[in-house]
Amino acid sequence: MNKKSLCLLLTCVIMFTAFIPFSEAENVTMYASDGRTRIVEAKDISAWKAVGWFESAEDAKIVTLYSMDGRTLDIPQYYRADYNAVGWYNTREEVTLTMYSMDGRSLEVFKDAAEAHNKVGWYYNISDVTIKMYDKDGNEYTIYRDFIESEKAKGLSDNKNDVMQLMFSADGRFMHVPFDKVEAHNEVGWFTSGGKVDTSKPMVAITFDDGPGAPTARVLDILEKYNVPATFFVQGKNVARYPNEMVRAVKMGCEIGNHTYSHVNLSASSTSTIAQQINATNTAVYNVTGVYPKVYRPPYGAYNKAVLNTIAMPAIMWSVDTLDWKTRNPSKTLASVKRDTKDGAIILMHDIHSPTADAVEPVVKHLLMQGFQLVTVSDLIKYRQGHAVSGKVYNSLAPR
Ligand code: ZN
Repeated sequence: MNKKSLCLLLTCVIMFTAFIPFSEAENVTMYASDGRTRIVEAKDISAWKAVGWFESAEDAKIVTLYSMDGRTLDIPQYYRADYNAVGWYNTREEVTLTMYSMDGRSLEVFKDAAEAHNKVGWYYNISDVTIKMYDKDGNEYTIYRDFIESEKAKGLSDNKNDVMQLMFSADGRFMHVPFDKVEAHNEVGWFTSGGKVDTSKPMVAITFDDGPGAPTARVLDILEKYNVPATFFVQGKNVARYPNEMVRAVKMGCEIGNHTYSHVNLSASSTSTIAQQINATNTAVYNVTGVYPKVYRPPYGAYNKAVLNTIAMPAIMWSVDTLDWKTRNPSKTLASVKRDTKDGAIILMHDIHSPTADAVEPVVKHLLMQGFQLVTVSDLIKYRQGHAVSGKVYNSLAPR
């Protein structure tokens, strides 16, 4: 900057400073909340403010504030921050929420009253009062719970498997298919997975002995994935250690059979030991699952007349011995199933061995792809021979 321009700048600054007292207005406009304005002297601003006037129209504007308990308050905007600091909110949305009833109503509730509403049947989330239902064409609907029964009467189901068929492909894909489209999907390489049993078609029962154990949960994962049941012949002493697996198995439609309390050789036991081993296991299963076993399998397949006469349940043997406990090899387990399984077979495996859990998916897949339906032992007997007979030995249930 040269000398000349610096001099000019200084002159300007001096002139501007000198003019300030004259350019500033001595009078200012003040505003009241009812819309009036008045001109007052600047030095009197605080005095006017003290009696309810504001320096801007914006400050004077009346706004409505909201409390959590449902009150409202109209105040000049100027005070908004002070009220916000003590629990007043600027919008209704901040203090209310929408609650939902089972019968399809919704209600805007002040947050302070939400708990009271919750106690008389209002819910916080719409997902608490609705479920997904399905029709035979595969459409999905969100239905209020109060309407479940009437929707069922119209043909909707809350279980996809009731209205549609789960199918899978050899490469591991799954989908639900409308029942009348099943055959068309069969023709292009899709396989039926679980669902309703056609009693005129082939069926087999997979059974697992000696558990429940650590691999049981993995076995259940596969059964659930393919929507198929199995029968678990459990040792009573293991039942209380795996209650979740036991309950889950029952909920999935699996059957729990009796395999004695501690895997004793029943054919070498006294009548009282036989009774004690069986009863203790029945009680253990009932205590965890709420259902009693209806069938038993003697450990080692060892029984005699005394065993059959003492135990008032059908004795279940097997027709496919996979020897999974011995080979501990999923490929060999599968090979044995492939070789020996015929319509009505009872397949023996053991869910206490990890390689057996590995074999379950290939075994289930193979059986379903061969057109076998998987059923529980009791259902296999029921579908093929009617009522199961106590004291009778069942090895397999070929069609008559
Ligand atoms: Zn056993």
